[in-house]
Amino acid sequence: MANIGLYIELKKGGFKKANRELLTLAAKSGHKVHAVVFCADPQPYMDELRGVQVVVQVQGADLSYQPDRYAATLAAVIEEFKLDAFLGAFSAQGKDLFPRLAAKAKAGLISDCLAVDLEKRQAIKPVYSGKLLAEYRVEGQRALFTVRPNVIPVEAVVAGSAPELKSMALDMTEPRTRIVEVIQSASQRVDLTEAEIIVSGGRAMKARENFVILEDLAKVLNAGVGASRAAVDAGFASSDMQVGQTGKVVNPKLYIACGISGAIQHFVGMKTSKVIVAINKDPEAPIFKKADYGIVGDLFTVVPLLKEEIKKALG
Ligand SMILES: Cc1cc2nc3c(=O)[nH]c(=O)nc-3n(C[C@H](O)[C@H](O)[C@H](O)COP(=O)(O)OP(=O)(O)OC[C@H]3O[C@@H](n4cnc5c(N)ncnc54)[C@H](O)[C@@H]3O)c2cc1C
Repeated sequence: MANIGLYIELKKGGFKKANRELLTLAAKSGHKVHAVVFCADPQPYMDELRGVQVVVQVQGADLSYQPDRYAATLAAVIEEFKLDAFLGAFSAQGKDLFPRLAAKAKAGLISDCLAVDLEKRQAIKPVYSGKLLAEYRVEGQRALFTVRPNVIPVEAVVAGSAPELKSMALDMTEPRTRIVEVIQSASQRVDLTEAEIIVSGGRAMKARENFVILEDLAKVLNAGVGASRAAVDAGFASSDMQVGQTGKVVNPKLYIACGISGAIQHFVGMKTSKVIVAINKDPEAPIFKKADYGIVGDLFTVVPLLKEEIKKALG
């Protein structure tokens, strides 16, 4: 049996959905799973982690995310627990942390995985802006993987005996990189990379204030609000809302594109959405070729109507 490690990412102390996806993947592998969590008290997370065999609590005076310290600590955890494979989410933090960890732990890394085969140390990931899917295999002793959020359906992990609790000390060597401030995004109620529903606006929104109609619809649907690059460049939306090749890659169950033409650079950021709905007043807009459902109409009329109808339907 192999030893598998999971990096449990906490956001403002909260348990991210992406962790549940990793827990599902690891539990199904049948290997011994070690969940590594940087926190002063692991108890609030023990219920979520009941399917793993070992919880490794990393302790330290200041556990705020510092990339060099986290990477050095995780490399030590991998060594100490002889982990053959180590997984994390392909989140903003995962993208920052795992390449550093790969260098520290002298391990191969496959990032942005859509499927992981832990037996073969292989993974499938998109390449060339999602035009192709490629299969990669890690050679060598240790394999690292980051998994795209919203790809693995979360399943309740069967409760076994309570996990063993181990602890490790945070690496305290002076970091070469230090995060001095984290600026919270202005509008995000829901993290776009983990959102199950996203309502996005394009250049057709015409002004920042007009995004309020998308926010209203998003509130009803408990959705995140995204934007095209044209909307961001025009100053209608903040850059953290941008979906696409140079923005965020999202993977929701439902993506509602409002006044977005469907340029390839936008499409590659949302093409894996399970259902795409396009609202556009031009019946020839390219987005309609990619959408599952299309509404030809003025978004300023359609979106408020849609909100009212969904509100009624949801009671
Ligand atoms: C290297 C590179 C990287 C890029 N990265 C990204 C990226 O990450 N994300 C991204 O989005 N783009 C990116 N782009 C830009 C991309 O090519 C497009 O220019 C951009 O996506 C267009 O945004 P849009 O659809 O909002 O605007 P437009 O293409 O101008 O489309 C606006 C649409 O709104 C419709 N419309 C107008 N008024 C209304 C109305 N009242 N009601 C309904 N519909 C209406 C129009 O019919 C039109 O289809 C990139 C480009 C390059 C070169």
